[in-house]
Amino acid sequence: MPDPNGFLRYDRRLPARRPVPVRISDWREVYPPAGEELIREQATRCMDCGIPFCHDGCPLGNRIPDWNDLVRTGNWDAAVDSLHATNNFPEFTGRLCPAPCEAACVLGLGGQQPVTIKQVEVEIADAAVARDGLRPRPASVSTGRSVAVVGSGPAGLAAAQQLARAGHTVTVYERDDAIGGLLRYGIPDFKLEKQHIDKRLAQLTAEGVRFRTGVEVGVDVTAEQLRAEHDAVLLACGALQGRDTPETPGRALRGVHQAMAHLVAANRVVAAAGDGKPAPATLPDGTPIDAAGKHVVIIGGGDTAADCLGVAHRQGAAGVHQLDLYPEPPAERDAARDPWPTWPWVLRNYPAHEEGGERVFAVAVQEFVDDGTGQVRAVRIAEVTVEKVDGRRIVTALPGSEREIPADLVLLAIGFEGTEEQPLLAQFGVTRNGRGAIDSRPDWQATDGVFVAGDMHRGASLIVWAIAEGRAAAAAIHTYLGGVGDLPAPVDPARQPLAAR
Ligand SMILES: Cc1cc2nc3c(=O)[nH]c(=O)nc-3n(C[C@H](O)[C@H](O)[C@H](O)COP(=O)(O)OP(=O)(O)OC[C@H]3O[C@@H](n4cnc5c(N)ncnc54)[C@H](O)[C@@H]3O)c2cc1C
Ligand code: SF4
Repeated sequence: MPDPNGFLRYDRRLPARRPVPVRISDWREVYPPAGEELIREQATRCMDCGIPFCHDGCPLGNRIPDWNDLVRTGNWDAAVDSLHATNNFPEFTGRLCPAPCEAACVLGLGGQQPVTIKQVEVEIADAAVARDGLRPRPASVSTGRSVAVVGSGPAGLAAAQQLARAGHTVTVYERDDAIGGLLRYGIPDFKLEKQHIDKRLAQLTAEGVRFRTGVEVGVDVTAEQLRAEHDAVLLACGALQGRDTPETPGRALRGVHQAMAHLVAANRVVAAAGDGKPAPATLPDGTPIDAAGKHVVIIGGGDTAADCLGVAHRQGAAGVHQLDLYPEPPAERDAARDPWPTWPWVLRNYPAHEEGGERVFAVAVQEFVDDGTGQVRAVRIAEVTVEKVDGRRIVTALPGSEREIPADLVLLAIGFEGTEEQPLLAQFGVTRNGRGAIDSRPDWQATDGVFVAGDMHRGASLIVWAIAEGRAAAAAIHTYLGGVGDLPAPVDPARQPLAAR
């Protein structure tokens, strides 16, 4: 029986983050392990609501009150089984998810702080790994059917694991030199050390999943070949088409880059250095996307921008400005705009913001300023207002508000425009919709025998949605292949996050 008064006895507490001067001198994760005592205390704050709204916040349908109570009572083995029943990779979501479940926690309704669901999740996952590793669960019988998964991000990996465990032969094709999608070279180590991906990959390999890296489907192997070799194909190629700003004067200057160029370069340096050691200032091939000693301007206000900020500080930037088009959000939920249990528009302070830099809200770049040699030396910004007119965003600069911010390195973190235009699409006979995503039928097929999931299907989103879609698409593929029984399908292709309107 859960403790109905736990939240009255204990305040919400997270483990202390590592001190800023220490953590920006390496690439290790920001949070140290919380320790059993703290996590059992925090799990005790969950009152096991009759209608647990945290479930509705989570697209995976994680059994949150169940595993909170199992942790409270010290049943760690049962807790990890409960967690794995709905989530293939809780060590990823526990570290990286913005936790819509916490925004939907019933404690938030009564003015209390939500349960630290995400922290409990990661501690369960890590405790399981520490106890006896990630035990493989290979299928006992092979179906003799074969599936190609294109793309090795969380959507592709979740689908691959579900299908392999159901007895299908699964091959994951990845154009990069390492498996993981954005988890590997997009998200920095201070949010997710790559050892966690490697441990999962060892489990998937032991379960029979085959990995082929350095293979771009549509170029190195054609869609026709893939269709001939496999009974079904899952496309999980992400939404990696970075939004740009070609119309802004000076965009072509040296030193103005897409954020992903900076993040991928930095991640590769860390991977090459190994063991979490500080990275050298440039890539081995001399790629000059390094913030060391530079004035950095990051344009954008989301996850990608915050990751660039953390990387810039670890590389030794002289100073960092982060520019946001929109006004500063409120510190607390505005219930009239975003009533509980929906995801609120509030100021999100990532650990990277604690490490330094200046955030500037309600501004837009008017020009990237040339130093006379073709290298950027500043950005000229203006204060702006933003309004929606007939669904279109209208940005108006306030006259006389222009000023310059020094900049040797400018990073564009202004979002993604869907999946990339690439040969694979035409070869499979699929086209990008108005949002740059690939539509599917209700059974996840984009076209006969070709399924789609993750960011490629829903547009740039979150890891938890990628895993949920990967699981659901795997269930549809299993049915398509005549597999015995049903696999869990937590979402359908039309499912949207909780919203008030
Ligand atoms: C910088 C950054 C930080 C983020 N931080 C967070 C966070 O903290 N929390 C969170 O929840 N979400 C975060 N996200 C979003 C999250 O990473 C994505 O929603 C998620 O990774 C999508 O998973 P996916 O499997 O659909 O695609 P991806 O992870 O994008 O993987 C797609 C893979 O397909 C491969 N591919 C593409 N075309 C081909 C081809 N033709 N042949 C072979 N392989 C191909 C690509 O190389 C890539 O590896 C972040 C995103 C970015 C960019
Ligand atoms: S909504 Fe909050 S208190 Fe209720 S079951 Fe979920 S985590 Fe526990």
